[in-house]
Amino acid sequence: MRYTGLIEHYKSRLPVDENTKLISLGEGNTPLIHLQNIPALLGKNVDIYVKYEGLNPTGSFKDRGMTMAVTKAVEAGSKAIICASTGNTSASAAAYAARAGIKAFVLIPEGKIALGKLAQALMHGAVIIQIKGNFDDGMRLVKEVAEHAPVAIVNSINPFRLQGQKTAAFEIVEELGDSPDYHFLPVGNAGNISAHWMGYQEYNQAGKSAKTPKMVGYQAAGSAPFVKGKMVDNPETVATAIRIGHPQSWDLAHTVEQESGGWFGSVSDDDILSAQKLLTEKEGIFCEPASAASLAGAMADIKSGKIPAGSKIVCTLTGHGLKDPDTAISQCKGDMILIDPVMDEVKNAILDNM
Ligand SMILES: *Cc1c(COP(=O)(O)O)cnc(C)c1O
Repeated sequence: MRYTGLIEHYKSRLPVDENTKLISLGEGNTPLIHLQNIPALLGKNVDIYVKYEGLNPTGSFKDRGMTMAVTKAVEAGSKAIICASTGNTSASAAAYAARAGIKAFVLIPEGKIALGKLAQALMHGAVIIQIKGNFDDGMRLVKEVAEHAPVAIVNSINPFRLQGQKTAAFEIVEELGDSPDYHFLPVGNAGNISAHWMGYQEYNQAGKSAKTPKMVGYQAAGSAPFVKGKMVDNPETVATAIRIGHPQSWDLAHTVEQESGGWFGSVSDDDILSAQKLLTEKEGIFCEPASAASLAGAMADIKSGKIPAGSKIVCTLTGHGLKDPDTAISQCKGDMILIDPVMDEVKNAILDNM
C-alpha cells in the first residue's frame, strides 16, 4: 500500500472519521537510524538510535502536528490559521495552508529565525508578521488576537498538534519491537516531549510495548526554564528553534517527567554545536542546532554514568540541518581549498589531505 501520511496510517488512533478530508503531504514514517561510530567514540556500550524528523516534508517534526491541526481547522470551516513561531512551525503552517487553499499568518521574532525557515514561509505564501520581540511575545499576541479575528491557532496549544505528534512514538515502538529505555528530546514549548509520552503510554496500554521509556528533555543553557524551575524572560541560544523562555506545555511536561521517571537538563551552545558537527561528520546525519541538544544531552548523561551500560536510547532529531545554513557554515570557516583550474593542483590537494 502506498504510504500517504500519518493520519491515513494511524486513523483508528486519531480524532478523524471517514468524512474528514485529510490535508497531508506524506509526513511521518521517518527513519530511525542506529548510530555506528559515536558510541565507540564515547567508549561506552550503549545503543543510540536517532529518529530523523528532519526528513518530514517541510524538514521538521512540526509536520506531524500540522497535518492534524490543519485537517481539523478545515473540517471546522476555518479559512485562516495563525501561529507564533521560532521558524519551523511557520514553515509547516505555510505549507499545509497552501495545500489546503487557506491563509496562513505567522508571527516570527525579527532577525532570530534561521534562513531556510524564512525562505519556506515566504515561498509558500504565508503572511509574515515580524515582531520586535521574541517567540514568547508572539505567542501572547496570537492568543489575544485569535479572540478578535477569524483565525485558528495551530501552535502546540492546539490539542490536535499533539495528537499528530504522538505518532512518532508509535513508529519507534513498531521498529524496535518495544519502547527504548530512554528517549531524549530538545525542549522548547515542551509540546513534543508531551506528545511522545502520550504515544508511548497509548501503545503500552494497547499491549504493543512491554515498557515505557524514561523521557529526558534537554534545553539550551541560556534558555532553560525547566532546569531553572521558573520562566526565563530573555532566552538566548544559537539553537533558535528552542529559544523559548515561557513554555506553553509547562504542566504537561512536568507530568511527563514524573510519570516516566525522566529528567530535564541543559547543554551549552558550544556543546550543542559540537554534537551537531560530530553527528554530521561521524555519522553522515545533518540536523539543525536545536535538534543536536538531544544528542548532546544523551552524550553528557552517558559520560557521567547516569545511563547504565547496555541501555537502548532514542534521540529525536527534530529538524534538518539545511534549515540553518548560516550557523552551519560559520562553524566551518576556512575548510575550503582554492586552486587554479589545473590537474596538478587538484592532485596536490588530494595528496595533501589523504
Ligand atoms: C519546535 C522545535 C523544537 C521544540 O519543540 P517543542 O515541542 O516546542 O518542545 C525543537 N527543535 C526543533 C527543530 C523545533 O522546530
